Amino acid sequence: MNWLRRWVNWLRALLGHKQWVGQNADDVPDRPSSRTVYLVGDESSPPWAAALLCPCGCKELIQLSLISGDNPSWRADVGRNGLVTLHPSVWRVRGCHSHFFVRDGRILWARDGRPSHGRPALGRPSTRY
Ligand SMILES: [Zn+2]
Repeated sequence: MNWLRRWVNWLRALLGHKQWVGQNADDVPDRPSSRTVYLVGDESSPPWAAALLCPCGCKELIQLSLISGDNPSWRADVGRNGLVTLHPSVWRVRGCHSHFFVRDGRILWARDGRPSHGRPALGRPSTRY
C-alpha cells in the first residue's frame, strides 16, 4: 500500500499543510489566492515583483520588488515541487506589522526579529516592507 500512502502524502501536501507555492503571472490577479506568491514578469525576463496576501489573514496584498538594485528588494526561489522561498524575511511596517519568513513553502513567524521556531532563517537581516 505504499503508493496509497505516497498519494495521501502528496494530497496532504497539496491541500492540508498550508504550503505556499510560487506562480508566474503577467500581473497581480484581482483576486489573489492565499498561499500563492505571484511572480510578476513577462517571458523575456526574470520576474521583477512578488505579490502575496499577508499570511496573518489581514487580507492585505504585499508587493515586493525582486529587482536586485532596489532597496529593499527580495529574492524568490521556487523549488521543483513548486514551493516558494523568499529572501530575506518580510517585515511589514504598516498595517498588521507581520514579520515572517517564507521558506520551502512554509511561513515561519518571527518574534522580536527572530523566527519563533527553528534556527534563525537565512542568517540575514530582515527587510522592512
Ligand atoms: Zn497581515
